[in-house]
Order: sequence, then structure tokens, then C-alpha cells
Amino acid sequence: MFDKILIANRGEIALRVLRACKELGIATVAVHSTADADAMHVRLADESVCIGPPPSKDSYLNIPALLAACEITGADAVHPGYGFLSENARFAEILADHNLHFIGPKAEHIRMMGDKIEAKKTAKRLGIPVVPGSEGGVTSDDEAMAIAREIGFPILVKAAAGGGGRGMKVARTADDLALALATARTEAKAAFGDDAVYLEKYLEQPRHIEIQILGDGRGGTIHLGERDCSLQRRHQKIWEEGPSPALSAAQRAKIGETVAAAMRELQYLGVGTVEFLYEDGEFYFIEMNTRIQVEHPVTEMITGIDLVLEQIRVAAGGDLPARQADIVINGHAIECRINAENPVTFRPSPGKILHYHPPGGMGVRIDSAVYQGYVIPPYYDSLVGKLIVHGKTRAECLMRLRRALDEMVVDGVETTLPLFRALVREAAIIDGDYHIHWLEHYLAAGDVKS
Ligand code: ADP
Repeated sequence: MFDKILIANRGEIALRVLRACKELGIATVAVHSTADADAMHVRLADESVCIGPPPSKDSYLNIPALLAACEITGADAVHPGYGFLSENARFAEILADHNLHFIGPKAEHIRMMGDKIEAKKTAKRLGIPVVPGSEGGVTSDDEAMAIAREIGFPILVKAAAGGGGRGMKVARTADDLALALATARTEAKAAFGDDAVYLEKYLEQPRHIEIQILGDGRGGTIHLGERDCSLQRRHQKIWEEGPSPALSAAQRAKIGETVAAAMRELQYLGVGTVEFLYEDGEFYFIEMNTRIQVEHPVTEMITGIDLVLEQIRVAAGGDLPARQADIVINGHAIECRINAENPVTFRPSPGKILHYHPPGGMGVRIDSAVYQGYVIPPYYDSLVGKLIVHGKTRAECLMRLRRALDEMVVDGVETTLPLFRALVREAAIIDGDYHIHWLEHYLAAGDVKS
């Protein structure tokens, strides 16, 4: 096992990793920018190192500063959390060159899945169902038009280097295609420095369903069921739940086993999520995330398995926590991402938290790094915390969630709490009857007040 882990992240995920390290008896090193000197992850870690000024590129993305911090503190492994350097294959290789362990998958798998065109080809080769689309990147408008006509409109133009929903444009008809291609290429170039795009059939009312997997790097792989992340705004998840209200146990076992078999073949190491769109009983692979995800607590609550702790164990060469046959899905969990944003316009609302009361009671979990008096800096994401609620059934989970949302107080900044309080009382949500475009329509109707 590792002796000392440097956590190359901030906010709630840095705290989440720190908690797993403490339980395993591993010493922790927090790193922080000058804007995060008072952050909770810094206060709770055994040691901390300031790695630069507020902008992420000078601090949390600053590889030389992170290497220096490992050197100074004698850390032997680095946990990247999510975002920042978590899916940077080069970072994993640089750490290895310095005799440091990267707590994550093998660099080759990060690289393979980081390129969405390559990822799709790999998925197809491994027997995972994919969305109909171009076989690879499209270079000319003429080529794109020919492929689009073959697949049929509407068509989605996507960035090969995509992430966070950027570089994605819908072409409803052939007339829209040239503009969609140009806009997607420009956005992709600006966001990722790579203007490669590919085409996919645009699915009208799919759900977003993702399978959680855990591998030991030697061909042992288990799946831990699914999360339904269909409630999204601008392609970004805000509410995640498991199990999906749309799947039967048999469907879960079938898609889970397909994914686990594919990952077994890759000899995948660590946690990973294979993401699908799901429509009319069919699964379509869209991408794989080779890291711990924001919404991982949903799976932890319904399987009883600590994903971050097990991620650290397998990275150190340990065994999987259970056999597939021993994994039982227990009850239902929902996660709400409470952001410091206006609940109607979603404009970020950084600032000082004047009053903070997290809800408690049976089945309620808060993953957050804020406290009363904490100032949310303007430089990073606006997550205040994740509220995760568990119940024996989905109905019990919703009942508790309603109560917990009403109890929670975050004063001083605007938050998305009013949106969730409205959602949890909506018929379509209570019935589990929603798809990835549902929230945009709901918001356009204008029923939520800030
Ligand atoms: P990113 O890496 O930018 O997050 P993804 O490929 O994961 O991109 O897609 C993000 C979201 O965009 C999906 O959850 C879904 O809402 C939407 N999306 C992606 N592909 C399609 C598609 N073919 N049809 C309809 N919606 C899609």
C-alpha cells in the first residue's frame, strides 16, 4: 500500500479522497492555490503545499509544481480526483518517470478513451453497442454530407476532443449541416486546441445511462450497476440517480456484463464509467470516463462499496472488493449537485457563505468542502456540495430528498436549491419519466423562481 498520497485537486473531491486515505491509514498531502489557502482540504490534510496563483493552469494544472510538492513531502502516489489532470495520460507517464504512482488507469487506456473517435472504435471492437455515425473524423463538408444522408437527419456534430458538452452542434436538416460543422470546429479549436469533429445520429428522447466499473488491471473486472444522469442542462448533469427508473434487473445485468467483459479484455485498472444513451430499449455508447466521477456516491449508497477507497487499493496492486455474484443493488439513491448559481439563469454566484446548515438524518449524505464563513472563489467550478439521499425504494428516497432539500440552508450566495425543491415535486420526476432534453423544456416553461 502507499505511504503518502498527494491529492492533486481541491473542493469536495479533495476532501472525499482525503477521507478514504485516513480510513486506510495513509498520510495525506493537500496542494492548493493562493485562493484556496483557507480551504477545508488544506485544513484536514496532514501536510499542505501551495502550488501557485489562482488560475488553474498555474496551480492545479501545473505539473512541475506538483512534482516538486511530491519531492518535498515524500509522497509516493498522486490521486488526481476528477477534472484537472485526472484524464491526462501524459501526467500519468511523467509521474511514472519520477517513480510516483498515478492513482488511475494505465496511460494507454486514458489516451485511448480521451480521443472520442478512438474510444468509439475500441468500444465497437469490444462488442459494446455504439451510436450510428461516421466511422472516424470527417474532414470535408462533402464527406460529412454524404455520411449524414446515409445516417439520416437530425445529425449531431461532436468534437473528437470533446468534454463538458462543448463543441457539439445539432443539424436538423441538410441545410443546417455546413453551419453546424463550422461552429463545432471553431468551438472545439477554442476549447481543446483540436478541431477534429465526427458525426452521430442525434437521438431525440434518450436517457443518459452509465455503467460503473472497477478493474484490478489483471483482467479482473466487476460492474456496479448504473446511474441515470438524464437530467442535464447544456449537456451537464445536475441530478443523478440509481438504479435507473427505466431499466429492469435483466437489462442491467446484460449491459453490465457486456461492459465488464470489454474491460476484462482491456485489463482495465481502477474505476471507470462507460456512458450510454438509451432509447427504445437499445444502448448506444457515447464515451468512457477513465476517472472517479462527480456522481460516484450514488453507486456507493446502493452497493455499499467505497469506490475511492477501492480505487486506491487496486492502484496499489490490491484485489477487487467483491465478486460479481456478490454485488447486490440495495434500494435507491439520488444526488443533487447544489451549485452557487442563479437557479434560473445559472449565472455563477461566488462569494461568502454567511449561514450554512447541511441537512442530516437517516439516509442523508453531504459531500461538500464548504463551511459557514467560507468564501467561494470565482476561479473554479461553482459546486457548493452534493446532497445524496438513500432510501429502500425510489419513493422513500424522494420523500427523504424533499425533506432534506427543505432543511438545507446556504445563505449569502445564490444556489440551485430552489430548482431542486421544485423538481422533486414535479410529476415527471416523481414518475421517473424524463429524458435528456426534459430539463431544458421544463426550464423554458419558467416555473422556477430564484
Ligand atoms: P461530453 O464529453 O462533452 O460530455 P458526451 O458525448 O458525453 O460529451 O455527451 C454529453 C451529452 O450530450 C449526453 O449526455 C447527451 O445529453 C448529449 N448527447 C451526446 N451524444 C448525443 C446524441 N448522439 N444524440 C443526442 N444527444 C447526445
